[in-house]
Amino acid sequence: LIVLENVNKWFGPLHVLQDVDLSVARGEVVVVIGPSGSGKSTPCRAINRLEPIDSGTITFDGRPLPAEGRALARLRSEVGMVFQSFNLFAHKTILQNVMLGPVKVRKEKPAVVRDRAMGLLERVGIANQADKYPAQLSGGQQQRVAIARALAMQPKALLFDEPTSALDPEMVGEVLDVMTSLARDGMTMVVVTHEMGFARHAADRVVFMADGQLVEQAVPEEFFANPRSDRAKDFLSKIL
Ligand code: ATP
Ligand code: MG
Repeated sequence: LIVLENVNKWFGPLHVLQDVDLSVARGEVVVVIGPSGSGKSTPCRAINRLEPIDSGTITFDGRPLPAEGRALARLRSEVGMVFQSFNLFAHKTILQNVMLGPVKVRKEKPAVVRDRAMGLLERVGIANQADKYPAQLSGGQQQRVAIARALAMQPKALLFDEPTSALDPEMVGEVLDVMTSLARDGMTMVVVTHEMGFARHAADRVVFMADGQLVEQAVPEEFFANPRSDRAKDFLSKIL
């Protein structure tokens, strides 16, 4: 579904993605780990074309990423993103936040979207908060709203960039539970995270990045039991 080939990206003199090859199959859950600044977020941003790449190719669903216009808007509706900061609209209710994309961007009928949005809030366990405002919810609840909002666009893939990093520890689990359930249901997911428990249990594949390079990738059992590169060994020895 997502294919990066020989992707390079510079920020000025900094070569932040170096010949990165990565493909994500439909229904696959890929967890991206690595030290801070290693280039984990940049591929996610590139897949959504929030960040242009300097060379190489990225295709989504068999087509090269569109540069602009309606095709780009469609790409962004097909690839949902969930960030560390939830970015909910403070002056809209939870339900309105979830309905906004489909109604405003896709011009779907509000009545239809409303039913879908309520179903999604149910799914993430906060249907009873639908009429509250973001500030009235905990961080974990807000992040679950952000996931429901991404799902409301009926994306073909979801990209998560450190979705639990801004949360108090006791709220991390509830968000990971929702993500695990999406993974089990066959959602295609790319997840940048430091939650190694999630990587072990929910990932089909773990990708380890360091210094802008995709250093190794393997199924989680193999990666955690037997990392091949020194950099991955070093990284795991510091965090496990
Ligand atoms: P973190 O764990 O801190 O989120 P990361 O692994 O996600 O880091 P990236 O955000 O992909 O890393 O960034 C890779 C490198 O590119 C880093 O050295 C970062 O400082 C640099 N970088 C990222 N965005 C920009 C930018 N807009 N301008 C200049 N440098 C940038
Ligand atoms: Mg990052």
